[in-house]
Amino acid sequence: MKIYNTLTRRKEEFVPLEEGKVRMYVCGPTVYNLIHIGNARPMIVFDTVRRYLEHKGYQVNYVSNFTDVDDKIIKKAIEEGVSAQEISERYIAECKKDMEGMNILPATTHPKATEEIDGMIQMIQTLIEKDYAYAAEDGTVYFRVKNFKEYGKLSHKNLDDLQSGFRSLKVSGEDQKEDALDFVLWKPKKEGEPYWESPWCEGRPGWHIECSVMSKKYLGEQIDIHAGGEDLIFPHHENEIAQSECCNGKIFAKYWMHNAFLNIDNKKMSKSLGNFRTVREISQQYDLQVLRFFMLSAHYRSPLNFSADLMESSKNALDRILEAAGRLRDKKEAEPKRVSPEEEKLLEEAQGYVVKFEDAMDDDFNTADAIAAIFELVKFSNTHVKEESSGAFASGLLSILEELCGIMGIITEKKEEILDQEIEDLIAERQAARKAKNFARADEIREELLKKGIILKDTREGVKWQRA
Ligand code: AMP
Ligand code: ZN
Repeated sequence: MKIYNTLTRRKEEFVPLEEGKVRMYVCGPTVYNLIHIGNARPMIVFDTVRRYLEHKGYQVNYVSNFTDVDDKIIKKAIEEGVSAQEISERYIAECKKDMEGMNILPATTHPKATEEIDGMIQMIQTLIEKDYAYAAEDGTVYFRVKNFKEYGKLSHKNLDDLQSGFRSLKVSGEDQKEDALDFVLWKPKKEGEPYWESPWCEGRPGWHIECSVMSKKYLGEQIDIHAGGEDLIFPHHENEIAQSECCNGKIFAKYWMHNAFLNIDNKKMSKSLGNFRTVREISQQYDLQVLRFFMLSAHYRSPLNFSADLMESSKNALDRILEAAGRLRDKKEAEPKRVSPEEEKLLEEAQGYVVKFEDAMDDDFNTADAIAAIFELVKFSNTHVKEESSGAFASGLLSILEELCGIMGIITEKKEEILDQEIEDLIAERQAARKAKNFARADEIREELLKKGIILKDTREGVKWQRA
């Protein structure tokens, strides 16, 4: 199996540090809002990587953090007049709901930055002792970049170029840094902000230190795969390498994987540009499996442009797979129960699609080609399962199809779930029926919704609904 390693800029054979085991860390979201579908891309991509590694027989220890202390969280808390913790807890809960909808497996551990402050203080202390960090007069602690000769190795940036670039960017108030490239490990609190005691000042950690600490605590000093979106290569991952390698004296991560951006109108989807769509919005229009399928239809290192048309064609494509699975499911109990010799041969032939699928995934997780192999299997199934076919033949094909879809995180059983938009439409229809005094139809709609687990409440402010 080959993985493209950002560190070496090559596809490399995957050899884990410990046979049969994979230690993997994926940088998670900063929780101050509902996640957008750009944030969902690394979640879906690396969940699929994990599922494939597990399919190959590896035991995967998968760690993904929540950044729950950050300027943006504090800003939102001030705006709402609540604590930062209330904001982060709210959006962690919402994020977990979205993850479940996208069929993302819970990580082995989902650490939160605020619960790992002691470890961060310890690592910063070690870095100071080893001369890789220093405290300025106001209690800010900086990492001393010039002492780490390998700085820039992940982003392939040249230290001198970086330095001159940074010098021209030098911001006032940062004069206490020894060097423009030095970055913050710990900073003093500002009025009204959450803070922790430390040997340097009451304050809070910089962003980068949390991942070095959580990765070490839950996975050890050396890990196999470290992953995230490509915007994290510099400075975040470069800084994580500097912190971890200087503190532990060991190579931090063997393989660095980065997904390309999800774009909209060929621009990166991001909160700051305001051009984002939340996962929650998409869930009102589509089953989130469609979003997952859409993301996996491109290679993770290629930019992917979001559009309503592409979502619609992903829905249709996914439906073709689900319908084929449905037909096989209907057929699998049918007589005869045993496969005929010809069917036996066909089942062997179908194994060829598993090989194709695995070849694609072994080549740096080429999910686009892997999905193409699933479609070939669907076509094969539609062609060869006939009226007279045995139940066992259908069952054999179904288990292959389910296994391959399972690796993609696609559930082949069609959910009968009703979408928010459909509920709203039915409620509008019921209101119209009532207005027209067609109470029979209005009651019928109420019953229909109830059967789908939707409870309506007529209130003074209008109709409210909830899922049972
Ligand atoms: P953030 O909450 O901004 O720290 O982002 C969490 C994760 O989402 C990181 O791995 C980012 O690289 C990733 N990410 C953010 N925006 C996008 C995007 N438009 N496309 C792909 N990945 C993204
Ligand atoms: Zn990180």
